[in-house]
Amino acid sequence: MYGQIPDSHKKDVDAAVSAAKKIFPVWSTSPVELRFKILNRVAELIEENLEELALAESNDNGKPLWLSKSVDIPRAAANFRFFATGIMHFSTESHNMEDKAVNYTLRQPIGIVGCISPWNLPLYLFTWKIAPALAAGNCVLAKPSEVTPVTAFLLSKICKEAGLPDGVLNIIHGTGHGAGEAIVSHPDVKAISFTGSTKAGERIAGIAAPKFKKLSLELGGKNPVIIFAECDWDKMLTETIRSSFSNQGEICLCGSRILVEESVYEKFKEAFVEKTKALTVGDPLEPSSKQGAIVSKVHFEKILRCIDTAKQEGGKILCGGHAVQVEGRCENGYFIQPTVIEGLGPNCQTNQEEIFGPVVTLQSFKTDEEVVHLANASQYGLAATVWTRDISRANRVAAKVECGIIWINCWMLRDLRTPFGGLKNSGVGREGGWEALRFFTEAKNVCIQL
Ligand code: NAP
Repeated sequence: MYGQIPDSHKKDVDAAVSAAKKIFPVWSTSPVELRFKILNRVAELIEENLEELALAESNDNGKPLWLSKSVDIPRAAANFRFFATGIMHFSTESHNMEDKAVNYTLRQPIGIVGCISPWNLPLYLFTWKIAPALAAGNCVLAKPSEVTPVTAFLLSKICKEAGLPDGVLNIIHGTGHGAGEAIVSHPDVKAISFTGSTKAGERIAGIAAPKFKKLSLELGGKNPVIIFAECDWDKMLTETIRSSFSNQGEICLCGSRILVEESVYEKFKEAFVEKTKALTVGDPLEPSSKQGAIVSKVHFEKILRCIDTAKQEGGKILCGGHAVQVEGRCENGYFIQPTVIEGLGPNCQTNQEEIFGPVVTLQSFKTDEEVVHLANASQYGLAATVWTRDISRANRVAAKVECGIIWINCWMLRDLRTPFGGLKNSGVGREGGWEALRFFTEAKNVCIQL
């Protein structure tokens, strides 16, 4: 243990709501130029504090330091900059009824909103919600995961330094059950933006829906990676290693079901297993570590249980499958070898349930119809990846796979203006670009008879 955070409950949430209520009339009517200036300053300060934030993120989460430096923290700054500038360009519609009337739509801040985020990309996902909510003129109650709270705490200091008025952003530390549910059930919190597991999403929807709160739910995934024989082989191989094992496989967008055209299945298996075995698992602070530690003991044990289940279901472990004992500073850490499994059908537990760790399965297919069927044989529908040089085939398959985000010949290439989110049990609603600013505002139509 290297720190302690408050275990907040209802009375802390009540206090945050009172603070937010006081400042809301001021913040919600502040000029967009002022909101731009403050949020853009937050982005600059995140960049200025990159080293400290990246180290805190790696220590908290177990991810390699090079990853927090190159992805997590730069993206947190980008989130603030993106929505700081975005609000300056946000416009609304007008509908003209010839000589009868004109309508225009106001997009007004909702009021007090709740943002709840998970531990896998702590500051990255926390800011992805907070930035648009603040830019749109709302006051925010935000809860980071209790497992990775440090960068959220550091962000609170940065926001103060940037000049964000007290009460506009209220960071509430604590557990999902305590602080999280107190935010979701508070009658004055009018919207909830949640990223996390499907199970917690279901619980949150159960509390919020009868109170008619606006809800955005970004939930779990079990993403297919579709590999056709005619793809750019080397690029596909390098990127499939990345999409399988980045951040120890603890990214909702990681591909966990790899579907390979039968004619190249054996060739893929051999090359992929060889590359997987070469990944170095070790101290997150060592630049040579491609894989860091699993976030917590609880999650480490869950992943190992999932590997056991795969074995019991008849899966063949092609590589990995065990914990790794790391020497030195991290000897008591939770490390798992990147694991590749074959021989399991689409309906087994291993191919149905999200593992959220460095574990992938391989399946082969013969036709486009078969691969679409395999890709869609899931309760989830978050993301998918397709590897092919045949662009017509790519477009046909992209249209048929049930998911909210599909990458063709790339993975996790993100343009913050695009809609982000999933179908089926992967969630409700979209984040990103105007979608986020629309979520964090209420549309009001004004009709004027001419
Ligand atoms: P989680 O257990 O659902 O927790 C997510 C957040 O919700 C945490 O802050 C948690 O608090 C809080 N929480 C839990 N139960 C709650 C409740 N009943 N009411 C209010 N808040 C509650 O998820 P996780 O294990 O942290 O994250 C992994 C999951 O997130 C995976 O399923 C992954 O796919 C998903 N994810 C999805 C996306 C996406 O964009 N779709 C992105 C990243 C991750 P505590 O930490 O205190 O429990």
